[in-house]
Parts: sequence; C-alpha cells; structure tokens
Amino acid sequence: MKLSIIFSCQIFILFLILFVNLSFADEVRSTCFGSTKKGSLKNGVKLPRRGKNFKSYSWIAGIVGRTYVHSAVKEIMIDAYAELARTHPDIVYKYAETGFEEGGRFKPHKTHQNGLSVDHMVPVKKNDKSVHLPTNAFNKLGYAIEFNLEGKYKDYHLDYEALGALIKEIHRQAVAKGYEIWRVIFDPRMSPNLFKTSHGKYLKKNIRFSKNKSWVRHDEHIHIDFRVPCQ
Ligand SMILES: [Zn+2]
Repeated sequence: MKLSIIFSCQIFILFLILFVNLSFADEVRSTCFGSTKKGSLKNGVKLPRRGKNFKSYSWIAGIVGRTYVHSAVKEIMIDAYAELARTHPDIVYKYAETGFEEGGRFKPHKTHQNGLSVDHMVPVKKNDKSVHLPTNAFNKLGYAIEFNLEGKYKDYHLDYEALGALIKEIHRQAVAKGYEIWRVIFDPRMSPNLFKTSHGKYLKKNIRFSKNKSWVRHDEHIHIDFRVPCQ
C-alpha cells in the first residue's frame, strides 16, 4: 500500500517537472536591438505555421527561417488571431514575411531587422467566402499580386471589413500587453475604403498609417511595425 503511494507520488512529481519544463520552454523572452531599419534580435521566436483561422504564406519560407519575431510580437499575433477566431469565425488570415531568428538584413526588405515588423497578406473573399490569397513561387509568395484601387484581383475581393478587424485586434492586444503599433503601411490610395468600414473610426483614432511613398506598393499586403522597447 505504502509502496503504491510512493509510486503515485513519483509519477505525480514527474508530470509536474515535465509540465513546468514545458511552460518554461514556451516562455522564451526576446531582446531587440536598434531599429527595424538597422537592428538585430536575440532569442527570436518562430510564428506557428498555422492555427485555427490563420496560416503562413509559405512553409518553405518558414523552414529557411523567415518567420521569426520578437516574443512580444508573437504573443500579440497569436492572441489577436484567437480573439478574431471568436469574433469573426468565418474569416481566415495569412501572415507573410517577418524576419530572421537573429534579425539583421532581411533582403529584399528595407526593414524587418529587429523582430518588430510583420507583413500580413490582405484578407480576401472569393464568391463571398473568406479564402486565403494564393501565395506561391509563381507570384513571388504573393508579393507580385496587384490589386486594383477597388480592391479586386482576378476573382478575389479585398475584404476591407476583415482587414479593419485584424488591425484593430492586433492593436488592442498590443496595448493590453503594454506595447503599441508604431505604424501600418498600406497603399494610401486604398486606405479610404478601410476607413469606411465599421472599424474606420477606431483605426483613424488609434493607428498611424504611413503616408510616405513606400519602396513597394502595399496593396496585397500590409506592413506592421510594433513599438516594443529595445536595447
Ligand atoms: Zn514589410
């Protein structure tokens, strides 16, 4: 009888150790250095390849290490997707290039150097259903796609309402964790459509949309820079 109690205790302790180890493994904290234009990252973490309502633009890009971010950014993104899965269960999202595990030059991008930049494909609808924008070798992982100013590409319609919900939720999660969005880059000629959505008022009040002419047109993807303290 006594032996069996000891045995049960040992099993319990073993589980406890395993559990604690697993939770620690999940709690890697990153440190960013410098700026998104000239910086680096320590203990970068990888975004998951897919989740309930989101996926990566390319599993190969994930394998070669192009989907690393600062741990704070990962938490923000994961929690935003989780909340969107609850509030907008019919919408699917697809993130794109983020950065290397140790940051640094991330060609062809001019930024994405310290784990605080995330590219995100615009959510789209086809035949009125939320679908993923196709991203593959033939369209430069989605970056070669060109939307017209009405937000149309082939049979795909840019879902401004879903895009507004995404930016708003990412901002809400960032603020809840003590951070901020520094800026969002989106084609300035298309952003008026975003402001017409039910999230327009919130976005105008809380998000700084870059008005500068960018090195590439941001129509098929948006670029988000987070404000997280760096060394
Ligand atoms: Zn970018």
